[in-house]
Amino acid sequence: MRPKTLAALTTAAALVAGGAATYAARADNDAPRARSVIFINGDGMGPAQREAARLKYHGFDGRLAMDSLPVSGQLTTSPDDPISAITDSAAGATAWTIGKRTYNGAIGVDVHKKAWRTLGRQAKDDGKATGLVTTAQVTDASPAAWFSNEESRTAEDDIARQYLEVSKPDVILGGGEDWWLPASNPGAFPDHGGEESKGTKGNLIAQARRDGYRYVSSASELRAAPADGKLLGLFANEEMFQQREEGKGDVYDPVVPLADMTSKALDTLSKSRNGFFLFVEEEAIDEFSHHNNATRMLQAMGELEKAVVVAKAYAAEHPDTLLVIAGDHECGGLTVEDNAKTDESGSGVSREDGPFPVARSPRRFSLDWTTTGHTGVDVPVTATGPYATQFTGKHPNTHVHEVLAEIL
Ligand SMILES: [Zn+2]
Repeated sequence: MRPKTLAALTTAAALVAGGAATYAARADNDAPRARSVIFINGDGMGPAQREAARLKYHGFDGRLAMDSLPVSGQLTTSPDDPISAITDSAAGATAWTIGKRTYNGAIGVDVHKKAWRTLGRQAKDDGKATGLVTTAQVTDASPAAWFSNEESRTAEDDIARQYLEVSKPDVILGGGEDWWLPASNPGAFPDHGGEESKGTKGNLIAQARRDGYRYVSSASELRAAPADGKLLGLFANEEMFQQREEGKGDVYDPVVPLADMTSKALDTLSKSRNGFFLFVEEEAIDEFSHHNNATRMLQAMGELEKAVVVAKAYAAEHPDTLLVIAGDHECGGLTVEDNAKTDESGSGVSREDGPFPVARSPRRFSLDWTTTGHTGVDVPVTATGPYATQFTGKHPNTHVHEVLAEIL
């Protein structure tokens, strides 16, 4: 065993044992200081979504990059909602970003609707560059909870305004152009059936340009954009994929792959002298799980995995970077089943999807849904880098805030 590896193991053991003493102890050894954080959310990604993707893409003996990180644990996902026991993405992400369980729909506010400084703002206040990348609208609940405060997740135009005027992420890449422009200004993407510009805060794209953002709306423009300064990329009216599109059904074909957006964000943010915080999200896992569409869900998992490969390579080259991969909640009540004709499953929402081939094997598996909504099962969390061992074991989702607040 090389001395470096031994030192790392000793550090890891100390961290597991440590509790509050952990942070003090770190200063005394040569473990790398945490400078940057990449947090990746598979929206709606529970244990079965991850395992199904492993079987499909790597087979019985293989492993996803997201599952190959050295630390793993579980997070509970309960909200503090007056009606529901099961979280939505707003309360789920707010638990991460302010460390408080709250009601469904809340963005960076507690059960009393009090706004707290979110981790995205805290990182910026501490002199770090910040960014968000998602296949949802950039103002959708999960990214919004890192960078804004709203009593309701539906105020997406005001969330965009807060990005420009309050939290000021340096990189903003994803969908949701509709919320940045007033009605009757279609922007780069033609208004059509339910996807029309609807902002009430003026032309926020023009405002972003005045504030020094480079604005891009296509893959080629994103490629050509220099990796420095502030960058706003909006690549769709709403989500970057289509649900139940006329005549085609669910379609997952973002004009810019999540992995490419992640690369560009890392190229840009890594220029920051004080480190950075980057939030990355694949939204389609959740939305296609709502539709009980396992084929499309698996496709989205494959795209998230490619973004994880990019982030993991960055973290490997930059040992001062903490990389965390989690889901905000499970969606669909999914399980992995044998491909048996005698299966007890019924029709409707509990109908099976598949069979799907197991990679490098003649075996096949089926995927079975129990609901079109979210569920309350734990989500897996995996991590690497400084502070990663804090994610060992089972914790409430508010634990993400406890760990990241120390770094950001
Ligand atoms: Zn959902």
